[in-house]
This record gives sequence, structure tokens and C-alpha cells, in this order.
Amino acid sequence: MDDVTAILDQLNSAQREAVSAPQGNLLVLAGAGSGKTRVLVHRIAWLMQAEGLSPYALLAVTFTNKAAKEMRTRLETLLGLSLRHVWVGTFHSIAHRLLRTHWQDARLPQHFQIIDSDDQLRLIKRLLKDYSIDAERFPPRQVQGFISGCKEEGLRPAQVDTAGDAYLGQLVELYHFYQLTCERGGLVDFGELLLRSLELLRDNPALLAHYRERFGHVMVDEFQDTNTLQYAWLKLITGQQTPTTVVGDDDQSIYGWRGAKVENISRFENEFPQVKTVRLEQNYRSTSAILDAANALISHNAERMGKKLWTDGAKGEPISVYAGFNDLEEARFIVDTLKERTATGLNRRDVAILYRSNAQSRLLEETLIRQHVPYRIYGGRRFYERLEIKNVLAYLRLLLNRDDDASLERVINVPTRGIGTRTVEILRFRARDQSIPLWQALHDSVADGTLKGRAANAVLAFANLIEQLDNDAAGLALHEIIEHVTAHTGLIEHHQSERGEKGQGRVENLEELVNAARNFTQGDVFDAPEAGEGLVALEAFLSEAALNAGDHEAEEFEDSVQLMTLHSAKGLEFPLVFITGVEEGLFPHKMSIEEPGRLEEERRLCYVGVTRAMQKLYLTHAETRRLHGKEVFPRPSRFLRELPSELLEEVRMRGQISRPVTAARGGLGQNLRQQSVEGDDDLDLPSLHIGQAVEHPVFGEGVILNAEGEGARARVQVSFEHEGAKWLVLGFAKLIPL
Ligand code: ATP
Ligand code: MG
Repeated sequence: MDDVTAILDQLNSAQREAVSAPQGNLLVLAGAGSGKTRVLVHRIAWLMQAEGLSPYALLAVTFTNKAAKEMRTRLETLLGLSLRHVWVGTFHSIAHRLLRTHWQDARLPQHFQIIDSDDQLRLIKRLLKDYSIDAERFPPRQVQGFISGCKEEGLRPAQVDTAGDAYLGQLVELYHFYQLTCERGGLVDFGELLLRSLELLRDNPALLAHYRERFGHVMVDEFQDTNTLQYAWLKLITGQQTPTTVVGDDDQSIYGWRGAKVENISRFENEFPQVKTVRLEQNYRSTSAILDAANALISHNAERMGKKLWTDGAKGEPISVYAGFNDLEEARFIVDTLKERTATGLNRRDVAILYRSNAQSRLLEETLIRQHVPYRIYGGRRFYERLEIKNVLAYLRLLLNRDDDASLERVINVPTRGIGTRTVEILRFRARDQSIPLWQALHDSVADGTLKGRAANAVLAFANLIEQLDNDAAGLALHEIIEHVTAHTGLIEHHQSERGEKGQGRVENLEELVNAARNFTQGDVFDAPEAGEGLVALEAFLSEAALNAGDHEAEEFEDSVQLMTLHSAKGLEFPLVFITGVEEGLFPHKMSIEEPGRLEEERRLCYVGVTRAMQKLYLTHAETRRLHGKEVFPRPSRFLRELPSELLEEVRMRGQISRPVTAARGGLGQNLRQQSVEGDDDLDLPSLHIGQAVEHPVFGEGVILNAEGEGARARVQVSFEHEGAKWLVLGFAKLIPL
């Protein structure tokens, strides 16, 4: 691009002011969709074109790797040059790059390995055992949380003040042992990446000087979600000298539970010299209906820096609120609706389905699969590929087939039961040597004394557990088998002991698997109406699960619907957005309802969700839902009530709009009374209408009062002469029109 002013085209005056501000510290504080990320990208381009900033002098921090990639592409388009080697990435990826480059100064082996939080946990468990520390008093998850917390605060074991507290002292000692083990093995966890690179720069003045010299400008997107360590890192690398641009929105701070400090915004203003602050107030993303709803919602928070946000865009469609009879119907509504909308113009990638908890994706995924809609899960794993699900499935496979070596290896020591890698090595070797399954190798090795003592006992206990579970399975229904297996293998407790959202999420997923099984035998969710009972059903279920895990992953470039948690949706935008499960207990999450601070964070999360939508937003909830293995009747979320009712419309069935929502519930029957309920042709259902006389084989004669849903799942309320009013599912009720 030759003309530098072209970079300022398509920016409003506040944005232009920010983009072209002289090199210096700049804070852009503004609401969702006001162009913060756009300003960041254009400012980089501007600095390069107008101020001669070298691409190699840029350090830009984004929130996800995907965002980094996107920023790079946008810049390349703006500038018309390749920027493959510029420093654009997440805090973690940039820290990683520093450590790889300067591994010697960082006192790391050249080929150090990054461990994720599962590896980290395994390591901690082993330490507890090696040092004979009581895992009841020091649950591994808590130790893990403690260590990560220390690192986030920039503290090494020697720097933690225990104030003479023995318990804390023990934790610090564990942190110390953990760190020693990592050092010995050349292992680096996520927190370590940041802390280690901070120390690298801090303790090597020459290196620090080099980078301070090198970077001519530092940029940070989503600044409201930086934690203490990231802030300290930023302060160090800039020396508060390197001009720094940060953009953020306090209303979108959603990682407080992971140590993010929204106060970093005011710290930046106070601690970096001469910060110029620009506020952006015009939103370019959403219709005014969506924006007004978002503004109204967030105004219920007390803790705010306060911002205005307006749009001169069209009012757009109202926000649709849909209440399903149950979660299954909610999923069907979403898929039906998005199919309609993508048939008339929208691409599938323009559609996002957002949820609060990962477990909610299962039903949505299955519904999408059944309706042949390609989808991708963004920033997470698909349900049947999740670790905890694969573990249960491995146990279940073993029930059916002891010779399934992959499954046996997967769970022989999950949860930990004292079967070490050496024991597994012995079994694996024997199996390979004699071409026998591991299961056989296990028994042979005990019989001929290859495995003795504790090792022998441990593997026998495992084998007995599998036999026992198999025995127990006889006579149980499919979902009972799965429930039994999760409980008796210790998998539930295993995840329950994990602290925070992650463990909670895994337990929810296990419960969700039981739900899947329950529906499976009812022939409802999968296309398997004759699934059979018990172990026969289990076999069918496992095949289905394998298919769900493998085949349906949309190709990288295939146009597909985007599924993600609300947290992962940050910074993104989509023409059509569904926010699902908008219910008390689910969203706001039950763990947050009690604490005002966390409730406000949930509301910010909802604000993030609402402001992802460009043209159309659906908020859906269900009147009953299977949650934690129980049927619950959640109330609609308080967030629904916090939205101005004139911006909402309630929808029931496809295309049928009733009236603006006034009360949260009820009163929907009116409209349905005028409709007729059409039978589903291929199901050979009778064609009925409200007021029609019908006969039921058991209840006798009656009159149809009301109807809901469609096709085989439609329900009708019939007033019977002798039995009173009853709701019946049309597909099952065998009603004969009179
Ligand atoms: P979030 O808070 O969600 O991260 P943001 O403030 O970073 O949002 P952007 O993603 O930069 O906002 O911009 C939102 C949308 O508005 C984008 O599609 C962007 O291209 C568009 N946009 C921003 N500013 C303008 C403008 N001046 N003219 C036209 N479109 C704009
Ligand atoms: Mg942004």
C-alpha cells in the first residue's frame, strides 16, 4: 500500500486518533465490537508505513493462536507483504519462543518438553507417593492449583511466605520437589513458560537490553484478561520505555477464576508513563436490538469502569427466546433453525452455537450429526474424543472384549491403582513376544511368577474389577451399566477431586454420557430404535460412539457450523448466534450464583456471548433437562429477565412467533390453539386439529385442547370424558380421529 492515509480509511475519528497516535503508551478502552482489534491491526500497519517501524520490531500479543494467525493475515493484506517471522502470538507462545532460542541462558536442556495439566497432575501424584505424603490431606488437584497459583504470582518455593504454617510449609516443599523433578526431566509446564522467560530476561541484563532494543512497539489485545505474571512480564520487557498499546474492555473480563486481573487496566494507566487513553463508542458489529440488549444486561453489574456504546446500524430482528420442553427439543430447534437459515443465504461458518459447559455439546453434536450438518468444535474436543469419555469407553470395551489391548493399556492404571510403567512394559513385552493379548499376558505373568508381590496384586485387582463389572452388568440397562462403571472404577471420584472448572466439567461429561446411554436405549438420540438391552445395547452404543468420534469431523476447510464455549468465543463474531441452556444453575453457573463477584463475571460472560452476534441472536433454554444424571426443571436464567422485553420475541415451533415476552413463562397456548397439528407423512400419523374429537385405546373418547411440537414428537393435550386432561405424545398415543 503506497498511500499511508489509506490505512486510516474506513475508521471513525476516535479510531483514527488511536491508530495514528504518536509512538507512546496508548490504552484503548472500549466495549464489544467497537473496533479494538481492528484498531490494533491498523495501528501496526500505520506504525510500519508512517513511522517506519520494522516488522521485526513488533511484538504483538493475542489471546489465542488462532487470533494470532488471523492478525498476521489481516496485516499481510493491509501491507501487502509476508510477515511469517514477526512476533505475533499468545503470551505462552512468545515465552516459548524465547526459551527455545535461549535455552542455555534459561538453564534448560535444548529439547525441553512442554507438559499439559494432565501430565502435571500425573507427576504430582507420583511425587506424593514417592515422598509418602498423604494424598487425602494433600489432594493432587489442590497441590497442582497451589503450584500454578504460585507461578502466576511469580513466586518460587523460597519466596512463598508460609508464616510458620505447617500445612503451607508442606505444600511449598511439594512445589520444591515438583520443580526439582521438572528440572531433572527437562519438563516445562504452562505457568513455567511464563515465569521462566520472565526470569530469563530479568537475570540476563544483556539479553533484556537486546530485546528492549529490538522491540520498537508492543501491542496487547484483550488486555483485561492478563494475570499478574503476564503484567509483570510486560513491564519487564518494555521497561516501561518501549511504546506499548493495549486494548481491552473491563466488561469482558471473564478469566478472573484463572487469575486474570482486570485491575491491570488501571495499573497500566498509572504505572506506564504518559498513557494516552482513547475510548471508542461506536459499535459496528451488531444490530441495535442486539446491542441495546447487551447494554441493558451489563448495566446490572455494579463493578464497571463505565462505557457508552451505540450503533447507527439498523434495529434488526428482535432477539428470539426459545423454550424447549426438554434439552433434546432445544437441540432440535437449534439445528432446524440453522438449517433453514443456511438454506437461505448464510454459510454454515456464519453460525455459532455457544454454551456455558462443555458437556452441553454432546446433545448438540448428536443432533447435528443425525441431520448431516458439518460442525467443528472450536477450542476444545468433540464430546466422544474427550479424555474422560474415552476412559469410560475403554472400560466398557473391556467388558465386551478382554482382548482389546488399546483399551486395557489406556485404563489399567486409570485411576491410579499402583500399576507402574514397568509392570505395563513387562506385560507389553510378553504379549508381543508370544503374540498374545495383554489380558492373557497379565494372567500368565502372575501365574508363572514373572509378576510378584505388589505388582501381581495390583494387576489381579484390575482383572478382578473388570470381571466383577461384567458380572454386575447382567440384568442392568445400558445407562445403568455405564453409571455403574463410572462409579465402581473410581473415575467419578478421580475427577471430583480435581479442583475448579476442569474437574467439574469432566464429571459433568461423565454424567452426560449416562444421559446419552439412557436416550440411546429409548432409540431417541441415535438412529437405533432396536438397540436391545444390556450388553447387546452396549455393543451398539460403543459402535455409535466410535462413529461419532471419528467420521463426522468436518474437513478443515469444509463449511461448518461452529460450536464452542462462551469463553472460547471471546473476540469472535458471527452473523447468527445461538446461546443455549440459558437457565439458572447452568448460566449463571451454579458455582457462581452465591458469590456476587462471580455472578458479575457470569454476567460479563453473557455480555460476551450476546455481543458475538451480528445480525440475529437466539437464546434458548429447556423446561426440563438431564443434568448430573437427574431430571431437573430449571428456571429460565435471570439474564433473560435482565433484557428489555421489547427487544425479545418468544418462539415456540419453527417459524411460529407468538408475542413479545412479558412474563418469563407461560401463556403460549393461545397461539397454538389456532393451529392445526399436521401428521408426519412417513410416520402415518393422523391429521388432527384443536377441538377435534378423538378416541384413545385406553382413555376412551376426548377432545384435543392444545398442541405443541411437530411430527412424531408433537404432543397434544386431550380432555378425556372420564380421565380428565392429559398430554400425550402423538407418535405413541394411537389416537383415532372421530
Ligand atoms: P471485541 O470486544 O468483541 O473483541 P472489538 O472491539 O475488538 O470487539 P473488532 O472485532 O475490531 O471489535 O470490530 C468489530 C467489527 O466491526 C469487525 O467486523 C470490524 O471489521 C468492524 N468495524 C470496526 N470498526 C469499523 C469501522 N470504522 N468501519 C466499518 N467496520 C468497522
Ligand atoms: Mg477484539
